[in-house]
Amino acid sequence: MMERPPCVRRDGIGMTSLRTRRRLIERLRAQGIGNQAVLSVIEKTPRHLFIDEALAHRAYEDTALPIGRNQTISQPFIVALMTEMLLDGDLEVKKALEVGTGCGYQSAVLAQLVNWVFTIERIHPLHEQARKLLSELGYHNISHLNADGFAGWPSNQPFDGILVTAAPREVPQLLLEQLAVGARLVIPVGDSERQELQIITRTRGGFDRQQREAVRFVPMLDGRTR
Ligand code: SAH
Repeated sequence: MMERPPCVRRDGIGMTSLRTRRRLIERLRAQGIGNQAVLSVIEKTPRHLFIDEALAHRAYEDTALPIGRNQTISQPFIVALMTEMLLDGDLEVKKALEVGTGCGYQSAVLAQLVNWVFTIERIHPLHEQARKLLSELGYHNISHLNADGFAGWPSNQPFDGILVTAAPREVPQLLLEQLAVGARLVIPVGDSERQELQIITRTRGGFDRQQREAVRFVPMLDGRTR
């Protein structure tokens, strides 16, 4: 099949068009996403380019979709919610860490809202694909690492915010240690049956923990894989 010309790929036609994206934004707003900067970024991020072409017509539905290797691209509502949670703290987020790059969609959203994104993916082919795609799409303020995100990224800490898009059973200690004072960790915690989003803010004296929505993410797993 012939490659579509870049202009068509980026702006989208039919089910990937601007009109379809606007409808998604209206839905997110109706579901309670109030941060206008986050909504604008989701509106202009071409989600259809992050998934398989056969599924591109479903890119602006508010659902998670498969991206191969048993992984998924998160539901737009969850991306919007977690991004809003990350940014709505007292500290301005300049340097953010993401654990679980997957196809790179959440990284692209973050890259348009903070100065620099550090993102970690344990599965090598996903890490490579995301790195290539994000660079082709012109997101140049993202550093990629193929490693186990349980360790965080010590050489670049502290972070002004950390967002985790796979669910561990317990909050990883090393991620807490890499938060700046005032920074937030937004993370789904639980087993395969039940998880909830937590927002953990580092304070001068310790950590402040809020429990939020029930969610469903793929598990956060140990170790790097090829
Ligand atoms: N952020 C993605 C969601 C990807 S799904 C999006 O925008 O849609 C979660 C990803 O986390 C998967 O690609 C999975 O391989 C990765 N993952 C799971 N455990 C991990 C770990 N310990 N370190 C880094 N990545 C991990």
